[in-house]
Amino acid sequence: MKFGGTSVANIDKIKNVAEIVKKELNEHKLIVVLSAMAGETNKLQKYLDAIDSEFPLENDLVLTSGEQVTIGLLSSILNKKNIKAMPLLGWQIPIITDDNYENAKILNIDKNLINSYFQKYNVLVLAGFQGVNKKGHITSLGRGGSDTTAVAIASAVNAERCDIYTDVEGVYTSDPNLVNKAKKIPKVSFEEMLEMSSMGAKVLHTRSVELAMKNNLTLQVLSSLTKKKGTYILDEKNLIEKEIVSGVSYSKNESKITISGIPDKPGISAKIFGLMTQSNINVDMIVQNISQDGVFANITFTVPSKDHDFVKSIIEDNKKLIKYKSLQTNKSISKISVIGMGMMSQSGVAEKMFKTLANNSINILAISTSEIKISVLIDEKYTNIAVKSLHDVYNL
Ligand code: ADP
Ligand code: ASP
Ligand code: MG
Repeated sequence: MKFGGTSVANIDKIKNVAEIVKKELNEHKLIVVLSAMAGETNKLQKYLDAIDSEFPLENDLVLTSGEQVTIGLLSSILNKKNIKAMPLLGWQIPIITDDNYENAKILNIDKNLINSYFQKYNVLVLAGFQGVNKKGHITSLGRGGSDTTAVAIASAVNAERCDIYTDVEGVYTSDPNLVNKAKKIPKVSFEEMLEMSSMGAKVLHTRSVELAMKNNLTLQVLSSLTKKKGTYILDEKNLIEKEIVSGVSYSKNESKITISGIPDKPGISAKIFGLMTQSNINVDMIVQNISQDGVFANITFTVPSKDHDFVKSIIEDNKKLIKYKSLQTNKSISKISVIGMGMMSQSGVAEKMFKTLANNSINILAISTSEIKISVLIDEKYTNIAVKSLHDVYNL
């Protein structure tokens, strides 16, 4: 069981979590993964910003501290109820990660300690979002990463299920906090969920979906405040009906980078994206077109907005290497995606999307597709209207 920040936002909410754990315990032994209290990690980030901290080791030490508080509190409440609980930090298990501070990947989880603790305790309360690298330093898994802790632990111990408790009742056809008409989806495939998350639906950390898919671990997203069934995320073979479009996602955290007047020669793209890889920048959409005379090319791509300034400086510093004429960047853009397994066998989905945007006088800045997704870049100020009108036009 994993409980997100809003589910452990204060003492009453943590007591509520203890009740949910107690009920579930009748049937199983449990691992409970917690986030920090809602807003806490943002607060810690602000402290780091205030001192312009540029040391990843210290940053992760500070950022991961909120989880220590919540696991201690929950374990204490459970023990008061005579439920044998033990709180554990990432390094104690240990959850071994790579050295990529602030966005570390889990390399290995030692099951031995967990198994031996289960001889004595019925509930292990684990801090989400954190691990330890081989040097013994604390690392964090990236914002929203406690979902990934939960899925990784559940996979490591071959758990029956992994339930992710949050502040909405499941996965919806679009962000329920933006689209009033959004509906809860009873079941969604790993593939669709992966596209939804990576295209902005922050209800699940993208890497948690990747891991669940790899290990074929069924997830349930549900609310810690209502007792309703949530959304199951599972293997596609278990889905009887495949919706043509099952959801609309958006992300405002994108920046568009356009490099113009690049010599149209082999190796230039490799140079540009090689620079991005060296700096650990996650590039998403890439669009290239060649000028009419076939001499020059333009490349447009998107990067997370937090990396915008850094990427801009890398490209400027490498003007001689890339040999481009001009660079334009734009922070105020939004990526809108429609996602659905049925797209593989149906035509007309793209046309409907483009028509709907045109009817709302929204200009498309770039397009990219996968088998089960179409994404467009638009001006950020049209995000709400684009998401709502697409949600309507596909009858979600
Ligand atoms: P937690 O703190 O529990 O991890 P998050 O804030 O990370 O919760 O994720 C839950 C939020 O995800 C919801 O409040 C909702 O606004 C947002 N969200 C975005 N897209 C979707 C979607 N398609 N379905 C459900 N929630 C979504
Ligand atoms: N507390 C961390 C964050 O706010 C991890 C999480 O909530 O998943 O990003
Ligand atoms: Mg989250």
